Amino acid sequence: MVPIDSIPYHIEKSEVSKTFWKGMEEGKLFSTQCNKCQEIHYPPSPILCNKCLKSDISWIELPLSGYTSTYTRVNLPPSGFKEQYTLIVVIIDLLDKPVLGRYIGDNPEIGKRVKIEFERINDLSLFVFSDM
Ligand SMILES: [Zn+2]
Repeated sequence: MVPIDSIPYHIEKSEVSKTFWKGMEEGKLFSTQCNKCQEIHYPPSPILCNKCLKSDISWIELPLSGYTSTYTRVNLPPSGFKEQYTLIVVIIDLLDKPVLGRYIGDNPEIGKRVKIEFERINDLSLFVFSDM
């Protein structure tokens, strides 16, 4: 299922982002929400709200499905991907926030409902989008 050999870079799992990474290990997608203005952030912004700049932030669990708002096919995949592989990248709407990720189905379409799954690559658990 996963045409990725490895990820050629190291992702730092800092104290600030550990809730996000722990969620990925458990098959959950976390982000943050401001307790003052209710703004939902994606990617997570666990220190300051990027709308009102307050620091009263909570972690929230995002839904594991959404609708594609756009997609593209990349026929020259980046390092770490096997040759002859077409990378399909989609953006889905999750609680009105755009979330970008790799699509592992054959037929991306704008407005298509997709689900979020998690795959393990080296020591990382990462999310991908697939058909419902
Ligand atoms: Zn705010």
